[in-house]
Amino acid sequence: MSEITSQSLFELTSNIKEKKLSSEEITKAFINRAEKSKKLNVYVTDNFEKAIDQSKKFDSNPNLDFKLPGIPIAVKDLFCTNGVRTTAGSKILNNFVPTYESTVTQNLWSQGAILLGKLNCDEFAMGSSNETSFFGNVQNPVGENLVPGGSSGGSSAAVAANLTPVTIGTDTGGSIRQPASFTGTVGLKPTYGSCSRYGIVAFASSLDQAGPMTKNVRDCSMLLEVISSFDQKDSTSIDYKRNYYSKELSKDIKGKKIGIPKEYRVDNMPDEIEQLWKNGIAYAKDCGAEIIDISLPHTNYALPTYYIVAPAEASSNLARYDGVKYGFRSPGQNLIEMYEKTRSEGFGDEVKRRIMIGTYVLSSGYYDAYYLKAQKVRQLIKKDFDDAFSKVDAILTPSTPSSAFKIGEKTNDPVSMYLNDIFTVPINLAGLPGISIPAGKDKNNYPLGLQVIGKPFDEQNILNISYALEDKINFKNDISDWWLSEYK
Ligand code: GLN
Repeated sequence: MSEITSQSLFELTSNIKEKKLSSEEITKAFINRAEKSKKLNVYVTDNFEKAIDQSKKFDSNPNLDFKLPGIPIAVKDLFCTNGVRTTAGSKILNNFVPTYESTVTQNLWSQGAILLGKLNCDEFAMGSSNETSFFGNVQNPVGENLVPGGSSGGSSAAVAANLTPVTIGTDTGGSIRQPASFTGTVGLKPTYGSCSRYGIVAFASSLDQAGPMTKNVRDCSMLLEVISSFDQKDSTSIDYKRNYYSKELSKDIKGKKIGIPKEYRVDNMPDEIEQLWKNGIAYAKDCGAEIIDISLPHTNYALPTYYIVAPAEASSNLARYDGVKYGFRSPGQNLIEMYEKTRSEGFGDEVKRRIMIGTYVLSSGYYDAYYLKAQKVRQLIKKDFDDAFSKVDAILTPSTPSSAFKIGEKTNDPVSMYLNDIFTVPINLAGLPGISIPAGKDKNNYPLGLQVIGKPFDEQNILNISYALEDKINFKNDISDWWLSEYK
């Protein structure tokens, strides 16, 4: 049997079901490794002691019908966890302990999983490099001084470094798929409305979705099956029949029509990305898929549209952090001064930048020129996809325009940071499902991802296409343990 922490979710659950491993052994193995991995800075809050207690409890009376029987899982620190601190990577929520549980994490525990701890992320999920967290940046295990992507950077690093078998992240403009691409892992953003947003710290409510981040496509299908559910507590949750994703997983994609959008061939795209994409197309053909050139004419407008809609919603969502209802408070002479001090000391620079953009585009006189216009363009972007999907079953693109970059490289240039999401943002604007799978490496041996985009609620199809491609690509992450240290 391979080392516990390097096993997939599928292997771990099989080993538990066959009584070859106990939940306690598995939980302790991940905790031991986490204690030697402080350099990566993936944990904001750990739940190790309670996790061991829970694993013992599971072992004393194991329910093997569960889908995640006694499996320890760490989650992004954007999911509210009852009784366990939830910070969203922000000073303003530094001391916030929720009294309720998010629906998607509840779905994990209801299937037997055990909370290992809360993983670092960009502050309020705003970022592409996990450098905006109040708790410091996360290191990408793939190479020294590299960003793990963002905002779910603690999550992607934790999966890549074998610190959790799988995890869940959130994706507003790419925060699951971009970090997956930077760490050689798999990340899926489901259709808007598939996974409940209840109990997830809100960033941009019309774009936010939770989704699985895993080592491979099969694990991804297993986790999606658990977290995707209709929820009356979320008014945007959609009641439809979800697939039995892991059971229906199939590599047979013969005859599938896969679209290649010409607008995703952006200026200055490195040759390596172009090559990666070509290889992906060749593999898809090998699997019997039919490749069709398509056009998504409004692609160029996606980033500017996103950077109006997302900050607008964020500025409204973040109004609730006023020093009264949640977390951090800085006292003042009067109420207004208390608000001002709390918010100026509690929020970091990127969050303040978004609040300022957001309040500006929503202000009277500018609303029509910016916000309303952006909403109209958003419809055109959605329509591009509708038109494309009348001809194809799925769309294949690169996940990101580059591999992981160095820590600090883009922190003073927000626009170049924003450009990293050029291939992921349109999918959130259109509410579609998208998955990133590791597909190759660049000249530095850093991973690169390919993205498969699907029709609404067609997660099964993009999982199947990815499953087939994964088999052909045969990606090996072979990450060295440079960050492991014996000292706590
Ligand atoms: N990087 C994008 C942003 O900063 C997307 C973040 C996300 O998906 N949460 O807004």
